[in-house]
Amino acid sequence: MDNNNTKKQNIYISEEERTLDWIDIQAAFKRTFGNEIYTSWLQKISLVKEYNDYLILSVPTRFFRDWIVSRYLDKILEQVKVFKLSLNRIEFKIIDDNKNNSDLILKTDEINKVTTIKDSILNYNRLNPNLNFESFVQGKSNDIALSYSKKICEHISRYNPLYICGGVGLGKTHLLNAIGLELQSENNVMFISAERFMYHFIKSIKKNDMVNFKDFFRKSSIFIIDDIQFIRGKESLQEEFFHTFNSLIDKNSQIIISSDRAPMKLDRVQERIKSRLAGGLVVDIDIPDLELKVKIIKKKIIEMQSQFKENINLSEDVINYIANESKTNIRELIGILNRVIAFSRVHNKDLTINDCKNILKDVFSQMKVITVDKIQNVVSNYFNIPLSDMLSQRRSRPLARPRQLAMYLAKKMTTRSLPEIGRRFANRDHTTVIHAVKTITRLSEQDDEMKKNINQIKSLLQE
Ligand code: ADP
Ligand code: MG
Repeated sequence: MDNNNTKKQNIYISEEERTLDWIDIQAAFKRTFGNEIYTSWLQKISLVKEYNDYLILSVPTRFFRDWIVSRYLDKILEQVKVFKLSLNRIEFKIIDDNKNNSDLILKTDEINKVTTIKDSILNYNRLNPNLNFESFVQGKSNDIALSYSKKICEHISRYNPLYICGGVGLGKTHLLNAIGLELQSENNVMFISAERFMYHFIKSIKKNDMVNFKDFFRKSSIFIIDDIQFIRGKESLQEEFFHTFNSLIDKNSQIIISSDRAPMKLDRVQERIKSRLAGGLVVDIDIPDLELKVKIIKKKIIEMQSQFKENINLSEDVINYIANESKTNIRELIGILNRVIAFSRVHNKDLTINDCKNILKDVFSQMKVITVDKIQNVVSNYFNIPLSDMLSQRRSRPLARPRQLAMYLAKKMTTRSLPEIGRRFANRDHTTVIHAVKTITRLSEQDDEMKKNINQIKSLLQE
């Protein structure tokens, strides 16, 4: 088990360090979005700069950027993640080819400045100035988490650690970031995701530089770590985290943690860590009710009005419709709102509920909850092979193709990361998943039978 882990982590790093080939990615865009969307929009995007966890892409105009962001950003990110897992953000620069002027030169300069700190840990310690308490809307589902987050800022280390848990897209990162912003002027704030923590941990081991690593993380007076569930099953990372945690607590540093589940529900995490995590205050964030969703929509509209410097009119009916239709989380709610607003700006009209229905038709059909389990079951039924055979290590084509197809669908239709998918397929490595995604993508273009299979399985999954 331990061996297995070490091996995975090493490969993980090498993938992390890989640089992107934009031509490959453009080809993937073309496949995913189809020729029409590709030539009108995506072809015009170029890669300006690549960092470990984000990309800067260029677009010709502001309108172009807004349109891409509101309609395609999620999918673009999903596609580039197939090539480089560690990416989690995309930023756009408006670079007008026709205006080859000082503006552009300035931008290149700016980029060069950033490059010099490219690999430093500090580069990942950035707080997003927009995710503050001001922009966080209070509701029944997040009331307790919000009020304790604020209390922490007044009285450091009264509740230690503060552990915020809740499902995806409910505002955990937003709250953590808000705490960091609030405290950063008077404290040494460290804000990092558990995934990044591991990245630096492994890198330090490789460079034989653990002393610096330990120093760096242990000197913070406020240590904020996002998505701690990432440490599940990673023994050596847990070990290091445990020591960091203890030494921070010893010197009264405040620790704030987020997770997608309660401490005691963290399977494959050492008991002693779980009990430390639960030893302070645990608060959770629930699914938002209608009232909160409406409040968030209204707040976002005001934000966008000042950002775009133009009026955005959505009727109460439309606002209620959007709030009612978005069932799962706030990230999704904002995504839907962005789409609706982009449409109304482009067509320059006030929207009716019917317009919204049309705009959101594809969005909602994509939103049925599809899990890796469900995909595995549907695929093995479809090909009439036992699930255990499909997951087994046997490599005969009648088993390997369905297996690859199931991995491909898991990547395309769920939010699971490549390593997570690999694990769900009898502990395969994430590179196997990447290979499967590439193979099936290629076959789906060349082979009509494969195309048909994919479409049929997709519709079975939507049922
Ligand atoms: P999580 O970390 O729980 O997955 P995030 O903090 O990333 O979720 O939130 C997803 C999106 O929803 C972000 O854009 C965030 O700003 C927004 N959001 C979440 N909760 C609220 C809230 N109560 N008020 C305003 N925006 C929110
Ligand atoms: Mg988050």
